[in-house]
Amino acid sequence: MLEAARESVPGLGQATVYRTIKALVDDGALHPVELPGEPARYELTVAAAHHHHHFRCDRCQRVFDIEGCPKGIEQIAPAGFRVRDHEVILYGVCAECA
Ligand SMILES: [Zn+2]
Ligand SMILES: [Zn+2]
Repeated sequence: MLEAARESVPGLGQATVYRTIKALVDDGALHPVELPGEPARYELTVAAAHHHHHFRCDRCQRVFDIEGCPKGIEQIAPAGFRVRDHEVILYGVCAECA
């Protein structure tokens, strides 16, 4: 995201970009997508409000939205545990890279 922003706005400082992203997250316009061990990515909250998951391509490193959700996924928690949320990330190679 920073790279893309830099291309369109030469000389844009990193601090400005992070401040802007933080403001958008605080406003609720952007929603962080957290993948373990990777820098934070963001998506529009309107898109995130529609429950979905992600696929990360090992080759191009792009992250794609996946529609739908495995049924009964929250039932795999041990008995007596209360599930607040879940995250499903598929890893592999996208159609373009395959
Ligand atoms: Zn790919
Ligand atoms: Zn789900």
